[in-house]
Amino acid sequence: MTHTDFIPYGRQSISEDDIAAVVKSLRSDFLTQGPCVNEFEHAICTKVGARYGVAANSATSALHLACLALGVGAGDTVWTSPNTFIASANCARYCGANVDFVDIDPRTYNMCADKLAEKLATAHTKGQLPKVVIPVHFAGQSCDMQAIHALSKKYGFHIIEDASHAIGAKYQGQYVGNGAFSDVCVFSFHPVKIITSAEGGMAVTNNEQLANHMRTHAQQGTTRSPDELTEMPGDWYYEQQTLGFNYRMTELQAALGASQLSRLDDFIQRRHAQFSHYETLLKDFPITLPFQAKDTVSALHLFPILLPEANKTARKSVFDILRQAGIGTQVHYIPVHTQPYYQALGFKQGDYPVAEDYYARTLSLPLFADLTPTQQERVVLILKHALIANQVMSA
Ligand SMILES: *Cc1c(COP(=O)(O)O)cnc(C)c1O
Repeated sequence: MTHTDFIPYGRQSISEDDIAAVVKSLRSDFLTQGPCVNEFEHAICTKVGARYGVAANSATSALHLACLALGVGAGDTVWTSPNTFIASANCARYCGANVDFVDIDPRTYNMCADKLAEKLATAHTKGQLPKVVIPVHFAGQSCDMQAIHALSKKYGFHIIEDASHAIGAKYQGQYVGNGAFSDVCVFSFHPVKIITSAEGGMAVTNNEQLANHMRTHAQQGTTRSPDELTEMPGDWYYEQQTLGFNYRMTELQAALGASQLSRLDDFIQRRHAQFSHYETLLKDFPITLPFQAKDTVSALHLFPILLPEANKTARKSVFDILRQAGIGTQVHYIPVHTQPYYQALGFKQGDYPVAEDYYARTLSLPLFADLTPTQQERVVLILKHALIANQVMSA
């Protein structure tokens, strides 16, 4: 099989304009710390309706910066979803905080707002409330942010949206990232995500203090801002006022990201057309397709299907048949609490049964901007063959 026959579950779409934008930045005076990063930050803010944007070299770094800015440290607890990429939890561990999880809704696969309410009520009686909750907009569909935000007012915690899957998604008619229901929102620009800067991420917020804190900590804890300096001996001067990191995004990355951002609407439109095509092709299949909640327009980062409860042991065989036929299916996600690192912290199988049951039965079918209807038809043909081979459906 040639490489071109392989259909990955996700991949970037790079245009000649994207390439020209990167080449232009390569020929410019700055490869890092130039104008492109600021322009990209402004462009993202304008798109999603946020006041401040802080670019970083990854969404993982941006999540870390957001936790630090909200004061997360040793002795604090951060709650997130078990159905996510490990970075949503690791960011709290970098700060020395404890992590805990809230099980998912069986239809949206997002953090369940009712379970969050129950867990908060219990934590409140024990004096163990979280400092920050990190809802993850799984597969590009917003969580029930209105409910989570109302709980944050009742119990006094902060909210970081992990919107790594969800740039361009809408909730209640507004772009995810506008900050109506959270303190900070983080996007990822990894190549499998909706738009890419190769590696890269961004934290957006409407709070100037949080933005300044994140910006300072992304550049070694330094500032050049005249109103923050203790003295101003000359133009060379900067001060390290705290301990930070080098989490900077390069100009090349920002140039690519900005060029990709101009294609965001088209990417989302294409993903929605692909979603509809899968719905048509799969309508008689005994599998559960991704549920789309009212009040949300998903960015459709992923297309996770669910095998019937009775056939959950077939998942591995279906996965293997797809992979052997050159279909790059993947599983999103291994519940974070079952990772050996988190088990060593005391979590165990059985702690979050909905996320675990979902994990046992799910597969993500390919979904990315340049996926063709013909490729989708091939994916579905092989899926049908795999389901028949496993007696999940009859021929
Ligand atoms: C991809 C991803 C991240 C991390 O993104 P990077 O840019 O690769 O650091 C974090 N959270 C979720 C849910 C993701 O899918």
